[in-house]
Amino acid sequence: MIDSSLRQLGSALRAGKISSVELTQLYLDRIAALNPGLNAYITTNAETSLAQARAADAMLARGKAQPLTGIPIAQKDIFCAKGWRTTCGSKMLENFIAPYDAHVIAQFNDAGAVNLGKTNMDEFAMGSSNETSHFGAVKNPWDKNAVPGGSSGGAACAVAARLCAAATGTDTGGSIRQPASLCGISGIKPTYGTVSRYGMIAFASSLDQAGPMARSAEDLALMLNVMTGFDARDSTSLQRDKEDYARDLNKPLAGLRIGLPGEFFAEGLSSDVAQAVETAITEYRKLGAIVVDISLPNTRLSIPVYYVLAPAEASSNLSRYDGVRYGYRAQEYGDLTEMYEKSRAQGFGAEVKRRIMIGAYVLSHGYYDAYYLQAQKIRRLIAQDFDDAFKLCDVIMGPTSPGTAFNLGEKGDDPVQMYLSDIYTIAVNLAGLPGMSIPAGFGSNGRPVGLQIIGNYFAEAQMLNAAHQYQLATDWHTRQPNGI
Ligand code: GLN
Repeated sequence: MIDSSLRQLGSALRAGKISSVELTQLYLDRIAALNPGLNAYITTNAETSLAQARAADAMLARGKAQPLTGIPIAQKDIFCAKGWRTTCGSKMLENFIAPYDAHVIAQFNDAGAVNLGKTNMDEFAMGSSNETSHFGAVKNPWDKNAVPGGSSGGAACAVAARLCAAATGTDTGGSIRQPASLCGISGIKPTYGTVSRYGMIAFASSLDQAGPMARSAEDLALMLNVMTGFDARDSTSLQRDKEDYARDLNKPLAGLRIGLPGEFFAEGLSSDVAQAVETAITEYRKLGAIVVDISLPNTRLSIPVYYVLAPAEASSNLSRYDGVRYGYRAQEYGDLTEMYEKSRAQGFGAEVKRRIMIGAYVLSHGYYDAYYLQAQKIRRLIAQDFDDAFKLCDVIMGPTSPGTAFNLGEKGDDPVQMYLSDIYTIAVNLAGLPGMSIPAGFGSNGRPVGLQIIGNYFAEAQMLNAAHQYQLATDWHTRQPNGI
């Protein structure tokens, strides 16, 4: 059962082969057995999950089931879920019980899905290794010495270790795609504005976007069908007709033009990842795709631009954690100013503080033009690179990450090395484009390699088609970590 696709699980539930309560209990038992060694979940609440499962069983009995009714889904701990502790991986929100549902959570509830628990993540989604979580690092199920990637590391680990049927993640600079790549699963960040950010704790609002993480492209399509949709409470939510993201899965790929950016295959890419990606491209040629060389000349500027803009937005978004309205408050202080200072000093971890300081600096009088404004201009050039590229190709492919999963502790002391691991993912967020990662083999150390697929705005169905056809022809996405 735990290897079934979402479609198969939905059929089994509707046919009465298994109940949602039984399926939920199966996952809760696996979490009880395996989570202590993996740390994928921050919070589970068996009573609440089973109550949702009973309600789903009643929906199923009434013949009112939707595709995900009764299916247990893991929610990244960045989404407010009413009555659930919602920490965002931070001591600052360690005891915060959300009083309302994020739009994403409400959509899953309406679909009759079961919330299986809240997954671990880098603090406030800042990180690429899940090591900045206040609740401890997550282990990569393929090798417990390795990081799962971040910031949606708990979600990627939970999917890879079969501790949920599918999961949600968020991606500000790669946090769905990079952990999907490092844990050998599939993940998609849709076009900015497609999934509402209401109730999703803000990091860098002009870049943050939620999306699904699952084992296959087909599962991702079913998840996106639930997650997307206009929401007036998010001012950047796009008003578009609901679409069925699974509609094109079975289209043949003959004639699909795949652009390969030279900049993604240059210095810094490890040779085993390059080889796996090239093998995947060969497979696409066999499926009838045409490969064209393209250039994204401003790729090298994406990390410096991101590390001006994302901290600038973060420093503003995180100013709300002042020890007054909600969140951690220091025990001892003299006056109001000291209460603010101590609450923030004690409640935030080192990476979050680093970002707040960078952000306050680049926004400050005298530096604003030199850093923030300049970065906004280059952001526009980066988006223009993609516009030009999509005149020559339908989708862009390349590696998701320059290497396979690194060891726990390996990059912890060197933020710049950590930041560089997002070199292929960040430009996609700066441009607001959809991007995904699918499993495409293993590196020389036996750790998974991800293939990144980048599409034009609103090309999710086409990207899922490309991914699904590859997954029909290969079996990387069905591989399982040993002992799981
Ligand atoms: N690793 C990047 C960062 O630390 C991206 C994180 C994300 O996408 N949330 O900012």
